[in-house]
Amino acid sequence: MLVSAKEMLDKAKAGHYAVGHFNLNNLEWTRAILETAEEMRSPVILGVSEGAAKYMGGYKTIVGMVNGLLDYLKITVPVALHLDHGSYEGAKACINAGFSSVMFDGSALPIDENIEKTKELVAACHVLGISLEAEVGAIGGEEDGVIGMGECADPEECKRIADLGVDMLAAGIGNIHGKYPANWQGLSFETLDKISAAVGSMPLVLHGGSGIPEDQVRKAIELGVSKVNVNTECQLEFAAEVRKYFEAGKDLEGKGFDPRKIMAPGVKGIKKIVKEKMELFGSVGKA
Ligand SMILES: [Zn+2]
Repeated sequence: MLVSAKEMLDKAKAGHYAVGHFNLNNLEWTRAILETAEEMRSPVILGVSEGAAKYMGGYKTIVGMVNGLLDYLKITVPVALHLDHGSYEGAKACINAGFSSVMFDGSALPIDENIEKTKELVAACHVLGISLEAEVGAIGGEEDGVIGMGECADPEECKRIADLGVDMLAAGIGNIHGKYPANWQGLSFETLDKISAAVGSMPLVLHGGSGIPEDQVRKAIELGVSKVNVNTECQLEFAAEVRKYFEAGKDLEGKGFDPRKIMAPGVKGIKKIVKEKMELFGSVGKA
């Protein structure tokens, strides 16, 4: 059964480790992440972007797939199904479709409007036991790579959003989505320190977790990050493994054209990354 992310993140915050949020792209991805979480005895958050949801056939299809796999694979560790960077409409659709956690990304809105909409969604989620992630200060994307630094959130604005009763807060601390540029200046621990002090026990979320040096990830977790989002690294590893399969001409041998055989090395690659991340985040054995 899916659970809200609240309890697992509160425990992580208190225990000074983080829970991995891994984005889904299809059935293989979902299965690879769930199997690894069970093997590692780790809680896990399955992230779904609005784009990935469109690709997979909508929120209800995903809820059906994930619930089916939890049952079929006999998953016993806590699993949250979470909307990643949701719009206001997307968040409402996921609440209705059976997600156990949603992120409302109002970071592009003026702060007062972000607060209004976040407040409304806090109420809608909590009635149903669904956890809510809010965001303050936009997190840079690939296109921002040229500046070498993601945005840093204002600790006062973080406190205003945290006080609305959200369950976790994403705040920019110089992190970036996608591949990090060569001239990236690293995370701003000064900003993280100030945000942590301002929001107290609120679990913080680190987006763009792919490609941040391990020592910086560890330090961020020490300073209050309890959820780390990983997407790009799984994609890169999947692509590299499937590329090797084709380059070795394996699709031309016997029944090597079988899609299940083509995907298999990619799935192994995803599992390897998920395992490495759970070890780095310290969530192994915490389920
Ligand atoms: Zn993100």
